[in-house]
Amino acid sequence: MSFNIPKSHPRYESLVKREKIIEGFKNGIVAYAGLIAHGRGEAFDYIIGERSEDFAIIAEKAAILAIKNANNPVFSVNGNVAALAVDEVIELAKLLNMKIEVNLFYRTEERVKKIVREFEERGVKVLGENPDAKIEGLDHARALCTREGIYAADVVLIPLEDGDRTQALRNMGKFVITIDLNPLSRTAKTANITIVDELTRALKNMISFSKGSVEKEILENYSNEEILSMAMKHISSRLSELATSQKEE
Ligand code: ATP
Repeated sequence: MSFNIPKSHPRYESLVKREKIIEGFKNGIVAYAGLIAHGRGEAFDYIIGERSEDFAIIAEKAAILAIKNANNPVFSVNGNVAALAVDEVIELAKLLNMKIEVNLFYRTEERVKKIVREFEERGVKVLGENPDAKIEGLDHARALCTREGIYAADVVLIPLEDGDRTQALRNMGKFVITIDLNPLSRTAKTANITIVDELTRALKNMISFSKGSVEKEILENYSNEEILSMAMKHISSRLSELATSQKEE
């Protein structure tokens, strides 16, 4: 993949991600709504400062512990996740013994197949092409999942998700971990663990933390309300500092 973005560009990383999403859209992996969701994420990342803050690191470590403690952890992948971070998904899933399931909000069989192929081309088998179960409480296409994967999962890592499905998974008794740059979203508020960090950065951090040891207390003392509050306070203090320095210039 080669984008004509000079590495010296101050927002190089962000622009490469944007190009990956556009390419994913052209290849039929990303849905129209995925383009809009990416823009929402970019806006929050700009405000957060495009780096992994403490609230993200704590949640990433807690998530690893929860996944390691699980009996059937499943990584749920949508179009944006596949377009941005297929290699990181594979590496983390291997390190943490997670199944991978392609699960789409705007499900079309064609898009599912294309995303499944992204994994198969890398020699990795994933679930999702032949759904035989439903997430309870949702209507038809959004509900489809596999019995072996999401339906039977005790812990689900489901980045960039919408609030209804997160709630439906919680109602089924699952422990839900999400990655979402918007600490105000319904998903962020509904999940058990919300990682307020950019998807690729979060997965890279989690890969690196999975290779070392993580202190058990991080999960024992974890409070998602506190993490979301830290994220909102960070956003608010960063904006007021920026506003003050703007006035002084
Ligand atoms: P909700 O239903 O949870 O209130 P929503 O309607 O925004 O939120 P979606 O569009 O399904 O639901 O959610 C996508 C979420 O993912 C958005 O909150 C967006 O900010 C976030 N997001 C988009 N791209 C990224 C990314 N690369 N890394 C992390 N988060 C992202």
